Amino acid sequence: MKELIITNKILNWYDIHKRTLPWRKKTSLKKKQYYTLVSEFMLQQTQVVTVIPYFNRFIKNIPDLETLANFENRKLIKLWEGLGYYSRVRNLKKAAKIVIKDFNKKLPENFLDLKSLPGIGDYTASAILAIAFNKPFIPLDGNVERVLKRYLYLKKENQIQKNNLIESKKILGTSIRSSDYAQALMELGAIICKPKKPLCQKCPISKNCKSLAKQDFVLKKIKKDSKDKYFLLKIYKKNNKYLLVKNRNFNFLKNFNIFPMEELIRPKNFNQNLNFKMSNMNMNIKIKNNKVIKPIPFSYWIDPKKLKNHTLPTFTKKIFTYLENHK
Ligand code: SF4
Repeated sequence: MKELIITNKILNWYDIHKRTLPWRKKTSLKKKQYYTLVSEFMLQQTQVVTVIPYFNRFIKNIPDLETLANFENRKLIKLWEGLGYYSRVRNLKKAAKIVIKDFNKKLPENFLDLKSLPGIGDYTASAILAIAFNKPFIPLDGNVERVLKRYLYLKKENQIQKNNLIESKKILGTSIRSSDYAQALMELGAIICKPKKPLCQKCPISKNCKSLAKQDFVLKKIKKDSKDKYFLLKIYKKNNKYLLVKNRNFNFLKNFNIFPMEELIRPKNFNQNLNFKMSNMNMNIKIKNNKVIKPIPFSYWIDPKKLKNHTLPTFTKKIFTYLENHK
């Protein structure tokens, strides 16, 4: 009964306050499934506001699964350029190919088949089933987790572990409007139960919220260790152009053009020039200028004034900016 009250309150709030988002617009069932797939891949590591223009451009160029399965890789990467985490778009295309070949061109409607597709884990499978197929799943994204942790005042390490959160989310109940309900919960976390300053006076479930009652909105996180890694980045310069190589050595940014670099294991006296956070890696980078130019396979000379003509990861662009600022 308690669950039903929460569910109705959140859905009523959503009906009035939901944002207009391009992947939410009314369309055919087939398109809705495709839009959900694309948007969920884009939203895996990126915020809604950033995703909107990318989504619109992507759908304009690649309107359906069949087109995606056959779309030229170079153009595909270009459409994704700036969103980062490029493995997402590669997996998206691979998933489209499998759906066309093995699932009769229809996105599978069950958890295990969806999870068998590249780039789809528990969360994305639940989100697709709820949003695109109206199945009673509640995907536990960062927004929903925050609402849950605050509503129930979950502070202890064991309470906020994934398995226990899955148990706790039963308090949220389910609805026959599963698609709307999943989106309503995400929306509530995104625009009301915000990470820094929750807008409790506008929240439909404020009456029984324990964090509000205690006036303590601080969220506890499970500590994840990010690994320190050390890299020597080699700069080759000729006629104001820099040498880049196609990355075949590292698992991150695979096949992208990066500056030649090597990983150093526990280096001594390492004076870093740059630091990057990438996935769960803390990259410490030392730059070394090289005068002798040796032939390097799969390498290219690139003019820093013409970066727009190339598809480059943000990582490489930031290094270009650093070099240009430290001439
Ligand atoms: S009342 Fe405030 S803290 Fe509680 S769920 Fe709503 S927005 Fe979040």
